[in-house]
Amino acid sequence: MRAFFVRGSLPERVEITIIGGGVNGVALARECAQSHKSVLLLEKDDFGSGTTSRCSRIVQGGLRCLESGEIGMLRESLRGREALLREQSHLVHPLDFIIATDARSRYSTLETRTALWLYRRLGRVPRTSAEGEIESLRRSLDVSQRWALYPFQEAQCEFPERLVADWLLDACATGVIARNHAEVRAIQTSEGRVQGVLVRDGITGEDSYVATEWVINAAGPWTDVVREMADLATSSRLVSGVRSSHLMLRRFSGAPTGGLLVHSPDGRPLTLFPWNGMLQVGSTGVLHRGDLSLAEPTVEEIAYLLGSAASLFPKARITADDMVFSYAGVRPLAYRKRKSELEPDLDVAASRYVVHNHADEGALGMLSMFGGTLTTAASLARKTALIMGLQSRRQAGAPVDTEDKSKMESTLQQWASTVHLATGIPQASAEAVARWHGRYAMSVIQAARHDPVLRTVIVDGQPQIVAQAVEAVVYEHAVTLGDILLRRVPIALSQEWNEYRTAQAAARIAPALGWNEHRTGKEIEAFEKERSQFLFKPKDLRRAGVAA
Ligand SMILES: Cc1cc2nc3c(=O)[nH]c(=O)nc-3n(C[C@H](O)[C@H](O)[C@H](O)COP(=O)(O)OP(=O)(O)OC[C@H]3O[C@@H](n4cnc5c(N)ncnc54)[C@H](O)[C@@H]3O)c2cc1C
Repeated sequence: MRAFFVRGSLPERVEITIIGGGVNGVALARECAQSHKSVLLLEKDDFGSGTTSRCSRIVQGGLRCLESGEIGMLRESLRGREALLREQSHLVHPLDFIIATDARSRYSTLETRTALWLYRRLGRVPRTSAEGEIESLRRSLDVSQRWALYPFQEAQCEFPERLVADWLLDACATGVIARNHAEVRAIQTSEGRVQGVLVRDGITGEDSYVATEWVINAAGPWTDVVREMADLATSSRLVSGVRSSHLMLRRFSGAPTGGLLVHSPDGRPLTLFPWNGMLQVGSTGVLHRGDLSLAEPTVEEIAYLLGSAASLFPKARITADDMVFSYAGVRPLAYRKRKSELEPDLDVAASRYVVHNHADEGALGMLSMFGGTLTTAASLARKTALIMGLQSRRQAGAPVDTEDKSKMESTLQQWASTVHLATGIPQASAEAVARWHGRYAMSVIQAARHDPVLRTVIVDGQPQIVAQAVEAVVYEHAVTLGDILLRRVPIALSQEWNEYRTAQAAARIAPALGWNEHRTGKEIEAFEKERSQFLFKPKDLRRAGVAA
């Protein structure tokens, strides 16, 4: 049963309070709800708006764990990837990758082949030949290098924002109370244990106190900010914030059609892959200083990514004009003193996660959980729940056939075609609904079936319909235009998006949501501010010194 979202007052008392509605916090809420505990999930901005929506969006099986010999973590990541492919098949799909090495690479042919063989064996992933892609890359990569190209398979979740929305629906269906735009401002402790949290509602400005037995700090890069709210006498820093930036390029002739793992000319690892109709190039890794909410790529990072892509694909003549936008995320890595701003081993550390118990620091009942990846979020949640004494009731499913992508595609198209014949809703719109709403797609279609307003596309030229925006608000806790267009129905992440589209989308969504002119104007203003801060493009890259 799905629950309507009603933004009422917060409960006075719950058993478990989770701070942070990224993939880790939402996974934990879903896990705890299985144990029939009263759970409150609090998010200061929107669910999935933190690091989760600023990541590379690859569902990693943990190939890089082989570098550090962390076989346990590798197995866990592979299991996590398999579970996501099986349970979220509308959002997560296999993606063929190629590792390209040349004389400057860190690893020999034998090492690379052995690692990929082991990876395939442990992950029970079939060997991919990718002959066409290899041929195409041989033609388009820099011919002055002698490339060796090795295929393997990963997976991709193009929209982790939707993964969070799906898991949130699961959690709320089992009784979790979830509230976004609700910031925890203080954690009260006394007699050596947590007592409650003070929450400010970001929409009404009201403060409330919620008494709680457990406080789980799942605040990602904000972990230490939240930890300090508990005013613990002996606690020390837990997290280093490492900023990584990505660049979105317009696709060019000869661009990889799958993922490409390669080293940039200066030896740093670089990943390129198709995303949302563009080519994503990433990423950098520098210690982040300053406001975590305002992390954005520097001009130097953009110049480095653009320059690396341009030198790998010289025939494409990539210039600053090919950049659509960039974004940066801050990775919460376990704190340690670093020798320099630029750490070469970030990618190995990236898959690790930590659960820290604050019981000995004067806060029995408080845990901080952070790190890991999309792939490990569910297992991190399970481990955290076990520390809390909760037994997992989630069932493991059957192994997934990763060659099934074409079957999945044709089932989806058949479904969309049937919906079109039965309802008159265009097939492309039905398909778009299924891709993002999975098992709830039919209820979105039912809502749109007899209502011309709800079956209208949100913007011309994109298939998503107004009913999806209404679904986002009624069931998925979306409150603002940004929540809708950047995360629940994330069409504003497309390369065609502009201010005109924002105005058109708002004009079509507003009547369905009962927004008046004043509210609509305010929403547009706030949305444009959020979009330009997130999807960042410096005004004049050439003048800023980016020559590529
Ligand atoms: C650049 C980059 C690339 C990455 N690439 C990948 C990848 O390809 N694949 C992969 O699997 N993983 C990747 N990761 C890792 C992955 O993104 C993270 O592991 C994951 O998103 C962490 O989720 P989280 O829930 O811990 O943090 P977040 O998503 O940041 O969630 C924490 C939430 O806590 C909220 N919060 C903070 N303070 C408060 C408060 N006081 N009250 C209420 N709420 C609060 C924040 O608003 C935020 O939404 C990448 C990370 C980065 C930075």
